[in-house]
Amino acid sequence: MEEELQSRGRRDILFEQAELYRKLENISVEVLSKYNYQEIRPPTFEDEKLFKRTIGETTDIVEKQMYTFTDKKGRRLALRPEGTAGVVRAYIENSLGKITSVTKLFYLGQMFRYERPQKGRYREFYQIGAEYFGNAHPVADVEILLLNMEIFEKAGLKDKVELYINSLGCKDCRQKYRAELLKSINSRSKDLCKDCHNRMEKNPLRVLDCKHDRDKFKDLPAIENYLCDGCKEHFDGVQSLLDSGDCKYKVDRYLVRGLDYYTRTVFEIKSTEKLGAQDAVSAGGRYDTLVEQLGGESVPACGFAIGVDRTIELMEKTGQKVKKVFIAIAGLTGNLGLAGQAIKIARLLRKNDIFTEGPYPDKSLKAQMRLSNSLNSSWTVIIGEEEMNKNTVILKDMTGQSQEEIPLDNLVADLLGR
Ligand code: ATP
Ligand code: MG
Repeated sequence: MEEELQSRGRRDILFEQAELYRKLENISVEVLSKYNYQEIRPPTFEDEKLFKRTIGETTDIVEKQMYTFTDKKGRRLALRPEGTAGVVRAYIENSLGKITSVTKLFYLGQMFRYERPQKGRYREFYQIGAEYFGNAHPVADVEILLLNMEIFEKAGLKDKVELYINSLGCKDCRQKYRAELLKSINSRSKDLCKDCHNRMEKNPLRVLDCKHDRDKFKDLPAIENYLCDGCKEHFDGVQSLLDSGDCKYKVDRYLVRGLDYYTRTVFEIKSTEKLGAQDAVSAGGRYDTLVEQLGGESVPACGFAIGVDRTIELMEKTGQKVKKVFIAIAGLTGNLGLAGQAIKIARLLRKNDIFTEGPYPDKSLKAQMRLSNSLNSSWTVIIGEEEMNKNTVILKDMTGQSQEEIPLDNLVADLLGR
């Protein structure tokens, strides 16, 4: 294929990996529904200004990472680099706050950022996110966190992720902190990388989000000493309610986020295993001023966005894959009696939600086993004349390569129990 036609910096998600994406999406929707979140599907592109005004002009996303374009009428548009801005716009535009005083929404889909492609960082990637409008109490922050952790737990990642939280305070606390931080950073500007030199004057908090050598922050002032009484009380509330919810967390005093709209609580959920250059699998926080800033009423809100691609990588690392059964026929090729029996068994398995492939009566048993192997089946069910007459099957474990003969009546229970 010509080089220009290839998907450089983008990628195709194939087969078993695509199945894992669907699995994580299904788990997420199930958990989100239990917490009474409703789906919203905002457009994938919006007016460029929406992102500039919400994410912040001096953030990496807006400065360097947006895919922007001009349409035929000369409008400046951008592919969405994240989900919250569009959801907040939709919340205001559809007057959702007038329908109920609290609104809980979730979305899933592609985001786009012009970044240097590397493992765990793609130009088109997937997020699953939730936004909770209309509740300023720490219970809302904690609901968002518990919900997020429950999704990871249901995805089999309970021991593979850790929650880090911090408070960025409100506008008032941050102003004081910003001034102190700038002083302190200025005195050590020689330690800073090139990006941080640029960030320093425009947005000193962003220096804390530097990806190089976080040790250098150890003696910079921490925001926690600058929080006003209200913000301190809120952050204490979040911690106490996380304890009540039996949710483990660590406070990271230097955790800031790459977006300007956060107030008070911010968090990151990190993989305990290295995932390429970055290990954050989810992030979010509170944004109490954003709705008003975009022309809505003053409505407090908080939310999260799970990085689906990195979460899938973690699921792959834990050996998760969708388990499949291959039905093979041992006997003369083209034996219709055996093919009929195989179809009956396949129907039975599929009725019980077991992924089933086959039969292939015109292939030799050897060719069938090769196919089963290359399709990555977990088990092969083999039937021959003898088994058919006895109403049994041979169940072969494709990972351990062991096999046993079992009554057909036990097959479903046996497979579901494995
Ligand atoms: P990072 O610090 O890893 O660049 P971020 O602060 O840019 O992340 P957010 O905007 O908070 O990330 O997005 C939430 C999650 O989305 C991240 O924790 C990550 O898992 C995922 N994510 C962000 N950018 C990408 C990308 N380019 N490719 C794949 N996943 C991404
Ligand atoms: Mg980033």
